Amino acid sequence: MERKQWLGMGMGLLAVAPLLAIVPAAARDGDGPAIPPVASLSDGVWMKGDLHLHSRHSKESTNNPESKIIGFAEKTGFDFLAITDHDNHVLGDVAHHTWADPEFKSDKVVLLYGAEWTTDRGHGNVFSAVPYDHQRLFDVRDARDARILAVKKSLGIHLSANHPIGKDHFGFSYDIVDSIEVWNSAMAAKNRPAIMVWDDMMRSGRKLTGRGGSDAHHGTPDTPDKTSKGSAERPYNYVGTPTTWVFATARTRKAVVDALTNGRVSISANPYDPRVELTADLDQDGRPDMMMGDNVKSTGKAVTFQVRLAGSMEAANAYKIHVVRNGEDFGTYEATGANPVVTFTDTPELAKRAYYRVEVEGPQNPYPEVPNSMKLSGTMVALSNPVFFNFDPNF
Ligand SMILES: [Zn+2]
Ligand SMILES: [Zn+2]
Repeated sequence: MERKQWLGMGMGLLAVAPLLAIVPAAARDGDGPAIPPVASLSDGVWMKGDLHLHSRHSKESTNNPESKIIGFAEKTGFDFLAITDHDNHVLGDVAHHTWADPEFKSDKVVLLYGAEWTTDRGHGNVFSAVPYDHQRLFDVRDARDARILAVKKSLGIHLSANHPIGKDHFGFSYDIVDSIEVWNSAMAAKNRPAIMVWDDMMRSGRKLTGRGGSDAHHGTPDTPDKTSKGSAERPYNYVGTPTTWVFATARTRKAVVDALTNGRVSISANPYDPRVELTADLDQDGRPDMMMGDNVKSTGKAVTFQVRLAGSMEAANAYKIHVVRNGEDFGTYEATGANPVVTFTDTPELAKRAYYRVEVEGPQNPYPEVPNSMKLSGTMVALSNPVFFNFDPNF
């Protein structure tokens, strides 16, 4: 049903695509793998996953076997996972630990190759569709950023800034990354400074994808977390707190990484919460021409933006849709009923950078498999990536 609707939107896009000045986003130095052109919106599937998880291969984690994490994700209906163990715990040799583990396999869940690059200047996650030589990235962790960027590009990986504020803050240039972890763990409220950094980077012209990651280290829902202050409680933070959604062209590792690089991404507090989708109609024909992550040249004409909440929600639920334009409040709209849609209109200035993104506040849907997450999740239900105007990929 949902897929069909997107197919329909894509057909509309195909019809108008030649008229739009689409700006390809692949040329900027910091970019990872090649990004499919916007015409790939003609087909796609929403996939949900977690992009920051630790298994027993990270020393400060509970002895959490990969099979437990993957088994939970399969049972709970996740589509992709990145198990990102600390590289310094295995002396850089991630490939012979996390990926070589016989438990690193699934018929149902797309498993990305990745690791947490753990350095004295902060942490970053690597995501890759194929195995890569992680040792090379580990070896240049103290090098100047330009050298790190060259190694990153030669490896063809997606590099992402982790928990950018506070302990282990990301102390590198944001020109070497493709995305930023704007929502780390079930504690949505503590991520406000990370969102501020994201906005600052975008306001200064960096087209960065915002993504989530639970960073879960401890316990499994059926194994009480005994490592955390002697608590015998179940974990507060586990797979999917938060859940990152990607709009991928196929259910493959490459398509997931490409969607992530391109910014076709939104984040929900848990896998059962509504997913927020942001699109824009550039020619007032009632059909969306671009979605989150897309970047076009403005025409000086009014653009109609559409915000849609997808998934299950109580009809009586009321959500607040906060629209952020270029890092500043643009307006707040109420949304109620099942799968509510909110529209707003604005005219992006000619030749001036602009971006629009939304945050959704409201009641959380329960996450029965990780019930304790509800104690921390607050009112932030979902977060979109922006739609962009006049961002220069060669900037
Ligand atoms: Zn970290
Ligand atoms: Zn971590």
